[in-house]
Amino acid sequence: MTAIELPAAEPGSPLARLLAKVQPNPETGCWIWTGAFSGETPKFAPRYGVSRSAMRVAYELLVGPTPTEHHLRRSCGDLRCVNPDHATTRPQGRQPRPKTPKPRAHCGKKLTPEKVAAIRADGRLHREIAIEYGISKPTVSQVKSGRIWPSLPAAAE
Ligand SMILES: [Zn+2]
Repeated sequence: MTAIELPAAEPGSPLARLLAKVQPNPETGCWIWTGAFSGETPKFAPRYGVSRSAMRVAYELLVGPTPTEHHLRRSCGDLRCVNPDHATTRPQGRQPRPKTPKPRAHCGKKLTPEKVAAIRADGRLHREIAIEYGISKPTVSQVKSGRIWPSLPAAAE
């Protein structure tokens, strides 16, 4: 493991004051906060006295603005960590569920050329074939006689 290099910061800058309270962990890459905590949350109190999440401050100083409606989550799971590389943003509140396409109940395309060929080669009762392929018995007859999918070769005699 190589030592973690913290980013260069101008002396006296907010970043320098933030990094002064960071203890990098070379094994995990985490920046362990050694400053103040509010509960389990690292808190950074800049000179204006308003304490803010040290993770959020580090993120804003090194990555960019974080929308206030976004939570910062730590991908490493270490609550003491303020490494912006370990932060992921996600909107607060419920995540919209990914849409799953609904299966179409009656798409009218139960048959594929492969199935048609298999049905034509199937020597079982039409009733059994109909159940297996989820089609009607007359459809099996029509497939076998070539009235459906006539472009495909009929069953071998
Ligand atoms: Zn971390």
